[in-house]
Amino acid sequence: MKELLRTKGYKATPQRELIFECFLAAGRHITVDELYQKVRLKDSSVGHSTVWRNLKLICKLGLAEEVNLGDGLTRYDRITPEPHGHLYCLECKKLVEFDMAKLLPALNETAQGSRFQPVGFKIEIQGYCDSCGERLGVTGENSYNGSGTKNVGKKERGKNDDLS
Ligand SMILES: [Zn+2]
Ligand SMILES: [Zn+2]
Repeated sequence: MKELLRTKGYKATPQRELIFECFLAAGRHITVDELYQKVRLKDSSVGHSTVWRNLKLICKLGLAEEVNLGDGLTRYDRITPEPHGHLYCLECKKLVEFDMAKLLPALNETAQGSRFQPVGFKIEIQGYCDSCGERLGVTGENSYNGSGTKNVGKKERGKNDDLS
């Protein structure tokens, strides 16, 4: 980690190293606040803005990227060697990853069909996880066909009405 920082021209201060370590140890999809809590357990002198600035640096160095799901929280996701998609539960806000390998040929074909050179894919499936689906009475019979969700009272969040 020190090496990486130095080769990119950044100082490896103890606080910075701690924040990087905590981020890498935390797994995926962490918010600034969550990371801040983790860092504070190890060093209570680290400020919130320091954590935030270093998260931005982590992204800049290509180790992570921001994930915005329209719920007002910015999550930071480690960049994985293989692209992954997200399953997002609209009820409990849980975010689960899935392997996109199976989808890649179709995605590439779609892009090429439009004479478009893809450099990355972001796939997010919105819906309800098993336990929320059961509680809300949304069952597996309601597979989505593009006509809108039927048995769910909540307005579905469209890709295009993201106000951020
Ligand atoms: Zn992810
Ligand atoms: Zn859920």
